[in-house]
Amino acid sequence: MNRNEQLFNRAKAIIPGGVNSPVRAFGSVGGVPRFITKAEGAYVWDAEGKRYIDYVGSWGPAIVGHAHPEVVEAVREAALGGLSFGAPTEAEIVIAEEIAKIVPSVEQLRLVSSGTEATMSAIRLARGFTGRDKIIKFEGCYHGHSDSLLVKAGSGLLTFGNPSSAGVPADFTKHTLVLSYNDVAQLEETFTAVGDEIACVILEPFAGNMNLIRPSENFIHTLRALTEKHGAVLIYDEVMTGFRVALGGAQSLHGIKPDLTTMGKVIGGGMPLAAFGGRKDIMACISPLGGVYQAGTLSGNPVAVAAGLKTLEIIQRPGFYETLADRARQLTQGLEEAAKAAGVTFSTDFIGGMYGLYFAAECPNSYADMTRSDIEAFKRFFHGMLDKGVAFGPSAYEACFVSAAHTPELIEETVAIAREVFGQSV
Ligand SMILES: *Cc1c(COP(=O)(O)O)cnc(C)c1O
Repeated sequence: MNRNEQLFNRAKAIIPGGVNSPVRAFGSVGGVPRFITKAEGAYVWDAEGKRYIDYVGSWGPAIVGHAHPEVVEAVREAALGGLSFGAPTEAEIVIAEEIAKIVPSVEQLRLVSSGTEATMSAIRLARGFTGRDKIIKFEGCYHGHSDSLLVKAGSGLLTFGNPSSAGVPADFTKHTLVLSYNDVAQLEETFTAVGDEIACVILEPFAGNMNLIRPSENFIHTLRALTEKHGAVLIYDEVMTGFRVALGGAQSLHGIKPDLTTMGKVIGGGMPLAAFGGRKDIMACISPLGGVYQAGTLSGNPVAVAAGLKTLEIIQRPGFYETLADRARQLTQGLEEAAKAAGVTFSTDFIGGMYGLYFAAECPNSYADMTRSDIEAFKRFFHGMLDKGVAFGPSAYEACFVSAAHTPELIEETVAIAREVFGQSV
C-alpha cells in the first residue's frame, strides 16, 4: 500500500468516507484520493512526495497561486495580533469598502465564513424583505448545502421541488421551484403563474457546478426584467465567479445589476471567508437593524480578512485578468488540439480564469445537456493525467481553474502530457 492508500484507510476509520467534503473522496472517478502535504504556486504535493500541476486551486480560491508569499506574510502578521476577537475590527471595514468598490451593485455587505452561509443568509434576507416564501433555483446550479437548496425538480413545471438529500423534510423544499437553466419560455411561464409569490431567484451567473455552462443573453436579461417587474429579489451567486471570470464578476460581464450578490472562494484567498451584500434597502432588513436574524462567531475573522485583503490587492494589479484569460485560452486551445489529433470527441470553453472541459462535440447549455457527455472518457482522461502529474477536479461536473502561477511553460507541459493521455487511453 502506498502512503495515500494508507492515509485513506486510516481516514475512513474516523471520518465518514475518509473526507470532510464528499467530492474529495474520488467517488465519481474511482481510485484513491491524493492526500496533500503542501502546495506552492501552481503545484501540490501528495503524501508520496509526488508533485502535480494543480488545476483545482482549492476549487477556486488559489487564484494568485498557492501559498503566495505576500498572502502568507499578511496572514502571519495578522495571526501574531490575535486569531479571533468576536468584536469589530477596522480591517473588516477596509475589505467591505474594497469589495463594494470592485462590485458596485454591492452597496452594503456582511462577512460570513462560507459560501453556504452567504447563500442561506441571502435567501432568508430576500424572504424577510419581500414577505414571500417561494424561491426559484435552476437545475445543476449549486448554492451550498442549506436545506431549502438541496432540491431536485418536481414532476411538473409548477410542482415544487423534492429534497435531493436525505434528512431534508419535504416541507422545507416545498417552497423551492427548480427550473432549467437557459429555458426562457419556462421562466416566463413560471412568472406569469406565480411571479408575485416569488421572494427571490438565485442563480450561478456562469454555472460552474455542472461543468462550465454559459447563460444566454436572452435568459439573463429576461430574468432581470421579470424579477424587477414582480418585485422578486435577484440573487447572483458569485461564490465561484466573483473575482474569477473578471475582477467585477459575472455581473460586470453581463451588464446586470443584481439585487443581492453572494461571494466566497477568491475573497478569502484560501481562508474561510465569504460575503453577501447588495441593495442598501434590502441589507437594512438584517439584524440588528431589521428583523432578519443572521450572525457568526468567526464572521470577519481577522486572519481570513488579512488573506482576503492581500489577495484582492494582488488581483487588482495591472494585467492580472488579461494574463489569467491568456493562460485559460492557451490551455483550452492546447487540449482541444491534442484531443482532435487523437480523434477524441472533446470541446472546451473558458471565461477569465475559469474553464470547462467537455467530452462532447459541443459545449452544453443545461444540466440535461451535460449528462449526455461521455463521463467514462472523462474518468480515463482524469486518471491518465493524474498518473502523469496533472491534477484536475475529480468530477466531470466541475469547472476547472487556472491561477497566475500557471506559466505558459507549465501549460505547454500540461498539453504535452494530454497529447499522450488522449493518444493512449481516452
Ligand atoms: C462553492 C460554492 C458555494 C458553497 O460555498 P462553500 O464555501 O463551499 O460553502 C455556493 N455557491 C457556489 C456557486 C459555489 O461554487
